[in-house]
Amino acid sequence: MLKKIQLLLILTISALASCKVENKGIGTALNSVSADDMKKYISVIASDDFQGRAPSTTGEEKTINYLAEQFRLLGLKPANNGSFFQEVSLIKLTADKSMKLDISGEKIKLSLNYSDDLIGGTPQVKDMIKIENSDIVFVGYGINAPEYNWNDYAGLDVKGKTVVMLVNDPGYATSDTSLFTGKAMTYYGRWTYKYEEAAREGAEAAIIIHETGAAGYPWAVVQNSWSGPQFSLEDNDLSKSDLQLKCWVTTEAAKKIFKGAGLDYNQLTQAASKRGFKPVDMKLKASISFKNKAEHTKSNNVVALWPGTDRSDEYVIYTAHWDHFGVNPAFKGDSILNGAVDNATGTAALLDIAKAFTSIPVKQNRSILFLSVTCEEQGLLGSEYYAHHPLFPLAKTVCDINMDALNIFGRTKDMTVVGFGNSQLDNYAVSVLKKYGRYASSDPTPEKGGYFRSDHFSFAKVGVPSLYLSDGVDNVEHGKEWGLATSEKWIMENYHKPSDNYEPDKWNFDGMIDDIKVYFEIGYDLSISKDFPEWNSKFPFKSLRDKMMSK
Ligand SMILES: [Zn+2]
Repeated sequence: MLKKIQLLLILTISALASCKVENKGIGTALNSVSADDMKKYISVIASDDFQGRAPSTTGEEKTINYLAEQFRLLGLKPANNGSFFQEVSLIKLTADKSMKLDISGEKIKLSLNYSDDLIGGTPQVKDMIKIENSDIVFVGYGINAPEYNWNDYAGLDVKGKTVVMLVNDPGYATSDTSLFTGKAMTYYGRWTYKYEEAAREGAEAAIIIHETGAAGYPWAVVQNSWSGPQFSLEDNDLSKSDLQLKCWVTTEAAKKIFKGAGLDYNQLTQAASKRGFKPVDMKLKASISFKNKAEHTKSNNVVALWPGTDRSDEYVIYTAHWDHFGVNPAFKGDSILNGAVDNATGTAALLDIAKAFTSIPVKQNRSILFLSVTCEEQGLLGSEYYAHHPLFPLAKTVCDINMDALNIFGRTKDMTVVGFGNSQLDNYAVSVLKKYGRYASSDPTPEKGGYFRSDHFSFAKVGVPSLYLSDGVDNVEHGKEWGLATSEKWIMENYHKPSDNYEPDKWNFDGMIDDIKVYFEIGYDLSISKDFPEWNSKFPFKSLRDKMMSK
């Protein structure tokens, strides 16, 4: 008898569960999400033929034409006045790698070499960069953050000087929750911020000291990411500033510089993470000169619209960057950085989710914009360009949902909500995951600053609520520890390297398909809702949203 009741209960519950799906009428859409499609798309996007998808190359041309064609075949509309492309004006700068950074002082004459010791370039549109005997100042973390009552530049004039600083922020170094946000990286910990601030302060050169833990990646990532041509938006603040050199140096090189100045590296870097730290004049001079090839060029975001019905003037955006690093001859053997995981997977998911939307019997109310952006790897430039030149009003843009590097390690019980607690969008993620018997977890490595490292952040910076989910780590088969270790191992071995190849035999697509259904359903729920989810009260860019919504 008991068994019968139990069975009845189970039947009722499962009927209710399926009923919920049926009521939404998205069963066919969910069924259309398939590993076969993903394999088909990824095999093309990550192919050698697409040459690593570097912006402004034939690799770009092939990629964006392929994406536009797929969106057209699916029945989506070109979102930019009849075009599937949004042109992005760029500056492309290629610094001559024979550069040497000379450091001199009373007891030291040091010459740092490109790649082994430093990776650098200039934000300036000039043919030649020349810095002579610029005074070097150690500015700790190089942070000026009034809301945390912290200013490494207090009382300091760095005009014409070279600032040396640490990556990440004092909260990371000390794990002290009363400093910044403790171990979790704030935007002040990101290298992009550090150059921006050095430029605002009027520095001539900015040197960031690399540390694998604090940066969230090994030196090889610095080498691979910033040794090719460097792009910036045509309209950008750095090239209007006095900053001539932006560069990273290895920890070893930094230690040599400190030693040459008669300073204790460990002691000073510790002091830099304590309140009351004062910048240190290192009594050293920096000199460097190098040729710089400056070009004006263009790249493209791909923009495809799936219009809604009665609220078609409101938009849910999905983003995934199509670009990667192209070909780097510095790698012997396989020199193509195919970016299969990063981000052929997310780009393919855009197509698969678009397909899912087109297979819903009753169309959704709001419009869906599929935005495959360029130059993410160059500092989120394509998404920044869209955020500043939106095709549809930002105040009518409900949110951005971003996908970057999907799961290839199998099913997980969880998905990571990077920046969990930032906005009410989290509730949508939580409830969809719950429906599938899964759960939302917060970022297991918040010190890496994941929330600032992909395209949703460009939307956040202008106030539009944005959601960034990433792989879960609680692997169904092998558990959490395995999940975390496997993903860390992948990052150390393959992230931004030629070995990020498409390997269908090695990849497990089950988790990826689960996750794509979640991405789809979050967007779908928002597309039939009247809700405009808001930032939570502590989010730094909340006031921008409040202002645009009150107009
Ligand atoms: Zn990426």
